[in-house]
Amino acid sequence: MTESEDLAEIRRAVQALCAEFPGEYWREKDRTRDYPGEFVDALTQAGFLAALIPGDYGGSGLKLDAAAVIMEEIQAAGCNGASAHAQMYIMNTLLKYGSEEQKRAYLPGIADGSLRLQAFGVSEPTSGTDTLSLRTVAVRDGDEYVVNGQKIWTSRAEHSDLMLLLARTTPREQVEKKTEGLSIFLVDMRKAVGSGMTIKPIRTMMNHSTTEVFFDDLRIPASSLIGEEGKGFRYILSGMNAERILIAAECIGDAKWFINKASDYAKERKVFGRPIGQNQGVQFPIARCYAQMRAAELMVHHAAQVYDAGGNPGAEANMAKMLASEASWAAADMCVQTFGGFGFAEEYDVERKFREARLYTVAPISTNLILSYLAEHVLGLPRSY
Ligand SMILES: Cc1cc2nc3c(=O)[nH]c(=O)nc-3n(C[C@H](O)[C@H](O)[C@H](O)COP(=O)(O)OP(=O)(O)OC[C@H]3O[C@@H](n4cnc5c(N)ncnc54)[C@H](O)[C@@H]3O)c2cc1C
Repeated sequence: MTESEDLAEIRRAVQALCAEFPGEYWREKDRTRDYPGEFVDALTQAGFLAALIPGDYGGSGLKLDAAAVIMEEIQAAGCNGASAHAQMYIMNTLLKYGSEEQKRAYLPGIADGSLRLQAFGVSEPTSGTDTLSLRTVAVRDGDEYVVNGQKIWTSRAEHSDLMLLLARTTPREQVEKKTEGLSIFLVDMRKAVGSGMTIKPIRTMMNHSTTEVFFDDLRIPASSLIGEEGKGFRYILSGMNAERILIAAECIGDAKWFINKASDYAKERKVFGRPIGQNQGVQFPIARCYAQMRAAELMVHHAAQVYDAGGNPGAEANMAKMLASEASWAAADMCVQTFGGFGFAEEYDVERKFREARLYTVAPISTNLILSYLAEHVLGLPRSY
């Protein structure tokens, strides 16, 4: 399958930008756990993070398959799109369900980089994957909502101006279906931090700028509500499909990076008087990872096409995310094995990418939960939880 010239051009443009951010840049950020602000600014200035924003609001109005290509190329270049990827898929909820007034108020600023929408507050410490049991509440009080509760793993919260927040607006006991009673808010964090919102960083095995966020009588204007009160869960599901497809594309980029890195090294590294890549024991794992990555890549493109055609890509997005994250993790492991001892040395970037790639069979949704979705919703097996 040959790609359209438009997508090929996007690939070349992302590659050129990423070439300005080589391994040393990422190693330094990793060492100091600093946010790669310069990289995010460069992506924004080049318009890549506004790919999905329609032209009327200052973006380029591209489809999800183009956004997927952008994220894939970032990872394939050895960079880390986790610093900015949320902006692409969070925006989706605002685009689809926000009022015209909200879109006019926020999208142009997001497109030109004066506003960052990078924080997505869904996960909570006690509910885990069981999102419908979340405990953060938003209670209407006149022209405001009062928010109380706690989020965990809210990545990039310290580097974002806006947060998309999922909170309960009707107690679970008072709704007919458990998917009802949750609402989505676009919270202006610039006003909230210090006035009821507290952010605490969590140090993780890779540089991910993730945090805990505490809400203590935080007052937000009622106009922060997106769409109808109580329908928030339905709204974020559609955004989650976009999220899974984009993250799957990142995993494909990671897998390509590991495969290229391992192939190059196996051609050059000589042991017992010949390149290690001449041994089939070294070649075959690389070739197997390549085949695994290519198969997953087909599912990622297919899922993006179903999404772009207006279909419901629930099954495809989940399968793409599972297959791509498994392909990237297999390639990461293979790459370390190919490098031998040097796979553990910082200067080759393999160990850094290995740590970064580990995340994606767990987040934004773990493999077990994807298998459970397929078993129940696609294959009709009995519900297990
Ligand atoms: C670095 C990082 C960044 C993140 N960024 C964000 C973010 O920006 N915003 C946000 O909202 N969240 C974020 N998350 C949260 C992420 O989405 C969750 O960690 C992930 O969905 C898994 O949920 P959990 O950690 O609560 O695991 P749990 O739900 O506690 O599950 C633990 C394990 O048990 C398994 N399990 C649970 N229930 C079942 C079952 N019924 N059947 C079989 N297996 C089961 C799971 O598969 C998993 O392997 C981030 C997480 C990390 C680590």
